[in-house]
Amino acid sequence: MAAGAFLLDSDKKTRYTAVSMNPPAIAIDGPAASGKSTVAKLIAKELGFTFINTGAMYRAVTWYTLQKGVNPADTAAVEALLPGIPLSFGKEGANSTVVYEGRVLTTELTEKSTNDNVSAIASIPAVRALLVEKQREYNTREAVVMEGRDIGTVVFPDTKFKYFVTASEEVRAARRAAEGITDSIAERDRKDSQRACAPLKKADDAMLVDTSDMTIDQVVAFIAADIRAKLAC
Ligand code: C5P
Repeated sequence: MAAGAFLLDSDKKTRYTAVSMNPPAIAIDGPAASGKSTVAKLIAKELGFTFINTGAMYRAVTWYTLQKGVNPADTAAVEALLPGIPLSFGKEGANSTVVYEGRVLTTELTEKSTNDNVSAIASIPAVRALLVEKQREYNTREAVVMEGRDIGTVVFPDTKFKYFVTASEEVRAARRAAEGITDSIAERDRKDSQRACAPLKKADDAMLVDTSDMTIDQVVAFIAADIRAKLAC
């Protein structure tokens, strides 16, 4: 086996054969409501890795900004909030969490005001720099399945595990509606794709997975098989 390679043991836990490298990082990117969160969480569970929802991190900063009465379009004012921002990025079980004043943020993160403003907040380079650092920190300690928009392009550009999960706009809109969430996904995707800093984009070396006509189980099985094949070599 090559130096720096690793294997999954029979309990699906990871064994490392190198001391110098970080644990594996699986990058799952894609547009809103593509199913990537559900898929990423299930893959993490199957492999025994930690699931990191980076959208929740951008959403938490957005929620906090709005709580403070700061206009998300006022870049300088948002930047001024960042030093010592009282949000902590940890985990509960095998899932990432964002904690504010001792409480894990949940419904706050999908409020309409958060949905409507998160792309503006996520377009601010200083916000991205802060959160990318936190995201990489997770991987210094543990193997992760991380989902977002720039995981394969910016956060872990060197990982060999990159997947870009997408679905037709109609399918994605229907999925959001079924969740009962009001979310203008087309608008968010447009803003996320067009921003100057770390736009939503498939990494050149990412595998494209169109889930429009696939069940969740099929997507998970497909990606997990590819990861296992790559883990073995
Ligand atoms: O994944 P989710 O839909 O929860 O992401 C919410 C928003 O957070 C996205 O629309 C995008 O603006 C931002 N985001 C980002 N980069 C990431 C993850 C999310 O810009 N890695």
